Amino acid sequence: AAEVRLEGVGKRYGNVTAVKPLDLVIEGGTLVTLLGPSGCGKTTLLRMVAGLEQATDGRILIGGRDVTLLSAGERNVSMVFQSYALFPHMSVLDNVAYGLISSGFRKKEAHAKAEATLETVGLKGFGARLPSEMSGGQQQRVAVARALVLEPEVLLFDEPLSNLDARLRRSMREEIRALQQRLGVTVIYVTHDQAEALAVSDRIIVMRNAEIAQAGTPAELYSAP
Ligand code: ADP
Ligand code: ADP
Repeated sequence: AAEVRLEGVGKRYGNVTAVKPLDLVIEGGTLVTLLGPSGCGKTTLLRMVAGLEQATDGRILIGGRDVTLLSAGERNVSMVFQSYALFPHMSVLDNVAYGLISSGFRKKEAHAKAEATLETVGLKGFGARLPSEMSGGQQQRVAVARALVLEPEVLLFDEPLSNLDARLRRSMREEIRALQQRLGVTVIYVTHDQAEALAVSDRIIVMRNAEIAQAGTPAELYSAP
């Protein structure tokens, strides 16, 4: 799994500094959370790793390669959004297969891969449904499947559980953690929820006011004195 390396990476929007230049190395195959209050720069950092925003300072290396020099196809990074962003008029199977088909896979092969990925997230047999016929937790798993089907080296989660109720949030975070460990994929996970960060992370990066305030393992940061 690919290492993600940020070297002096910062982002300004006009007069607003969303992220002050910072250094961060995310070891391949680990799950690292960006934890902090709304507005501290988490999503901006994630979007820069995804290649959706360009850094105003520094550079981002994924597997040793500068993201700005890679095409979307080469970048091999998938993102799971807070809102799931599923296509409401498409079946679950078509939602998952969509990215493959648009990157050139034949429909039959894309559907076979999509079926297998739905099984990975515990949704075998749900392919013919519409997103509206699924529960919130199931829609979230479809969103995960849609990201996973592309076999990314790096998987990004932007507050993936914030639309779910508390009980479902707890079970889904266990699922995400188990899946990450099984697949060995590098994950960057954005949340403002400390309990969620503690439950899923190998390392937690605490952000405050557009910079890193603290970093360490859950035990290092939150063990009782
Ligand atoms: P979150 O707090 O969950 O990250 P926000 O509501 O802050 O979500 O941001 C949602 C989207 O709006 C993001 O894509 C972000 O880049 C954009 N955004 C946030 N603040 C501003 C702003 N001041 N001007 C323009 N776009 C913004
Ligand atoms: P978080 O994800 O931690 O809630 P964001 O990364 O969304 O924080 O936002 C960090 C800061 O950057 C906020 O002050 C936000 O308003 C600002 N910001 C984010 N996106 C934009 C944008 N597209 N244009 C202007 N300001 C933005």
